[in-house]
Amino acid sequence: MTKMIKVLKGTKDILPQESLQWQRLEQNALNVFSRYGYKEIRTPIFEATELFARGVGDTTDIVNKEMYTFEKSDRSITLRPENTAGVVRSFIENNMSRLSAPVKLWYKGPMFRYERPQAGRQRQFHQVGVEMFGIKEPTADAEVILLAVDYLKSLGLNDLEVEINSLGCPKCREEYKQKIKEVLKPEFNNLCEDCQNRYEKNPLRLLDCKVESCKEIFEKPEIQKVIQSDFICEECAKHYHDLKLYLDKLQVPYVENKLLVRGLDYYNRTVFEIKSNNLGSQNAVCGGGRYDSLVRNLGGEDTPAVGWAMGMERLNSLLPEIEPDKLDAYIVCNSPADAFELAQELREKGSKVEFDLSNKKFTKQLEKASKVAKYALILGEDEIKTNKVAVKNLATSEQITVDRNDVLNNIG
Ligand code: ATP
Ligand code: MG
Repeated sequence: MTKMIKVLKGTKDILPQESLQWQRLEQNALNVFSRYGYKEIRTPIFEATELFARGVGDTTDIVNKEMYTFEKSDRSITLRPENTAGVVRSFIENNMSRLSAPVKLWYKGPMFRYERPQAGRQRQFHQVGVEMFGIKEPTADAEVILLAVDYLKSLGLNDLEVEINSLGCPKCREEYKQKIKEVLKPEFNNLCEDCQNRYEKNPLRLLDCKVESCKEIFEKPEIQKVIQSDFICEECAKHYHDLKLYLDKLQVPYVENKLLVRGLDYYNRTVFEIKSNNLGSQNAVCGGGRYDSLVRNLGGEDTPAVGWAMGMERLNSLLPEIEPDKLDAYIVCNSPADAFELAQELREKGSKVEFDLSNKKFTKQLEKASKVAKYALILGEDEIKTNKVAVKNLATSEQITVDRNDVLNNIG
């Protein structure tokens, strides 16, 4: 027998029985985001590798270990591991800073990261996300968080936890970084390999480490003292304070988490995640924050920005399965030409209709109808001659004969 080819590790088919849930995620995104004035943007799935090296940051796990990169005609190309860099590239390239602020964009689609596959972690996964450009005030941070919560509510997910933190600005953060490095120096040899590697380039990332022995180290009182200290400058503190004020006013519950630093290099001031207790160890459904220097770093004009991304697989695993709708009608008929004609008439009017395409016996057709449809439309020789249709309600077994023109009124 010829060898079967299987789906690659870390990738999955989205099968027909799952696609209703996916459509619901996407439909709700469109509905909820457009209420806030967001427009959809679709950027290419692959981009120049340099975009991610500069846009995501070369001290991140994504850029260091997780990118799918290949060469084509001497160009280094990468499958997008996330979509913020692509959206920012497009924002700059299409001169969107000319538009009146805020520019509000949303996206959905596949992302690619070479990670160890496990529950809630794939190599091709999907994100839905938003980016808002042009507003430096904390109103923007509050609005994107509110939008995330609203979207989750629209899906029936009400009990998720919003965590927030402020990373300050490059100025006040620098001092904090130094302090973190200092206090962790005596522990350097006890840190995990990743943390040792990040220590110089990205010391804040250490706080995010999931390795138990590192977490224990960070619990030490002298280290906690630095972590919990209020390092952010007055302006950053005001921004953070006002964000919390808006969230309080809007009754968005949140917890402050000083260990929340997020994996990407580009964030400043506000960072946030939304977590679920029902997801096991990959418990974050949403991650985001403010990235005021990214547009400039990628060659655009100075433009403040804030956004988030949600993992659609993780969202899906929190949602109940959706039962597919039955067909409105299944036509039971021994003359395919007549069945075709009636089916097309009804489909044109928007009904979901099927009939037997393979010449099965009448009784088999009826059996099939009762499995897949709400009504059986029986077209026997008599009905065809008299231009009538026997309509059988498959839930109650009631059957009436109606004029062909009247079928639609009787299957609604
Ligand atoms: P994690 O800490 O789980 O690796 P992250 O910080 O790398 O997350 P982001 O880049 O912020 O994640 O992406 C936002 C969201 O996308 C995550 O909260 C998660 O729901 C989802 N996500 C990220 N990576 C994956 C993956 N490999 N498989 C499935 N979903 C993912
Ligand atoms: Mg990750």
